[in-house]
Amino acid sequence: MRHIFITGGVCSGLGKGITAAALGRLLKQRGIKVSAQKLDPYMNVDPGTMSPFQHGEVFVTDDGAETDLDLGHYERFMDESLSKHSTLTSGQVYSRVLAKERAGGYLGGTVQVIPHVTEEIKNFIYNYKTDVDVLITEIGGTIGDIESQPFLEAIRQIGLEKEKECLFIHVTLVPYLKASGEHKSKPTQHSVKELRALGITPDIIVTRADEPISDDVKTKIALFSNIKCNCVIENITLPSLYETPLMLNEEGFDDVVCEKLNLSASKPDLSEWRNMIALSKQVNSRNITLNVAIVGKYVSCRDAYLSIVESLNHAGFASGAKVNIIWVDSENMQLDSAIFGGVDAIVVPGGFGDRGITGKIFACKFARENKIPFLGICLGMQVAVIEFALNVCNLIGADSAEFTESTPHPIIHTMPGQENLLGSGGTMRLGAYPCNLTDGSLLRKLYGLPQISERHRHRYELNNSYREILTTNGMLISGNSPDNTLAEAIELQNHPYFVGVQYHPEFKSRPNKPHPLFLGLLEKAINH
Ligand code: GLN
Repeated sequence: MRHIFITGGVCSGLGKGITAAALGRLLKQRGIKVSAQKLDPYMNVDPGTMSPFQHGEVFVTDDGAETDLDLGHYERFMDESLSKHSTLTSGQVYSRVLAKERAGGYLGGTVQVIPHVTEEIKNFIYNYKTDVDVLITEIGGTIGDIESQPFLEAIRQIGLEKEKECLFIHVTLVPYLKASGEHKSKPTQHSVKELRALGITPDIIVTRADEPISDDVKTKIALFSNIKCNCVIENITLPSLYETPLMLNEEGFDDVVCEKLNLSASKPDLSEWRNMIALSKQVNSRNITLNVAIVGKYVSCRDAYLSIVESLNHAGFASGAKVNIIWVDSENMQLDSAIFGGVDAIVVPGGFGDRGITGKIFACKFARENKIPFLGICLGMQVAVIEFALNVCNLIGADSAEFTESTPHPIIHTMPGQENLLGSGGTMRLGAYPCNLTDGSLLRKLYGLPQISERHRHRYELNNSYREILTTNGMLISGNSPDNTLAEAIELQNHPYFVGVQYHPEFKSRPNKPHPLFLGLLEKAINH
């Protein structure tokens, strides 16, 4: 297994994750078995307990790991399902080291960052699934951060232990100064200097800028970083991030990576990817724009709904429609139908806690009554069921136990078997579970399959005692766990597209393989 380590310089939010994901796709298209992992320096055990306002979406893998949203980029670009082997935080590293210490695992030794913490990190990297040729490891944070030092020290050691099989890529910002009309290489020079002080010499520098940088600046960066000019790869801001692999390929990125890692592989076959990009561009020229409202509590942090936005874009590429997202803050919205004027589809995404629930219920009611194509995801499905119970089944006070424990109608309640689970970290129903689709349902038709597998992240469930009243009033339970104990999906029968799912379809959509539920939503929205 060869290793590619990706670090970031100058500032955060540079798109290191996209660079890693795009490189992964390029290598995959060259026939190389590749995978990716993200090492995050923060002390949380996983991002599951972090607020989406601060950290954006929590991405969930098939095996139930709650991860950084960069894993979503890796999966979408590389079209590979990742696992808990692709995510490590300082919190996990320290938990493992401390558990080992308490169990006497260090045989009386003084437990230290070097070698014990670094050893734990190295083992995590070395013990990746063995069937890959190349493992891309992205280090979160920016060079110079205190938190990331053990990770950098660990990869430095791997660089020494597996000298010929390692490659260090440093992604940095090259700012443009309007006043002097030029790009500045100095921040990159300083960042590289800092990296070298930690014992890591970058082999390739990826420069992030909004506009192309001049050859002079590239040459300067190469000179000061002690690398050849063809190892300075430009990564400029593009209209669509899915164009990144093509741009990086034209820059010779994958060529130089293969050359440096001594990988003999044919040129990448990017025809499918190019077709997808062509489709996405046609969308702009075809002039069908769909206004899709996302009604959620975390809309001030767009990254909180990243996979949903991407899923809508993927479905847009395939259905020929440009998606225009209308962000509706469920907490502060006016409960007035005018807010949905001109809206072609409504998505109520997942979430936690009772803030903004009234707005979400209003959105569900509006979509139901006005026959607007609707997709409720996780909490979105739960709220759609509550709204239906309140306004169609006349169950006064119907609510979720999450919001009102004393509700007379706990239409959504704690998951059977999880009543006694305390604590908030990793205690939900997480990861992929099978779901049987009901014959004759819209879902069965959309998926074209009797059984599907989708990823979950929730604690509450539809209360089975209310199934009958819901169904006699026109709600169809269109998906169930194989033992029929858990309702996984609902739909309304007298509506063109009113779908709620307890799982998260957005984690499985790919740019060239849109998810059937998002595609179905947009297709109905086009007709609407
Ligand atoms: N808060 C709800 C639950 O725990 C929904 C979770 C979600 O939307 N991901 O069941």
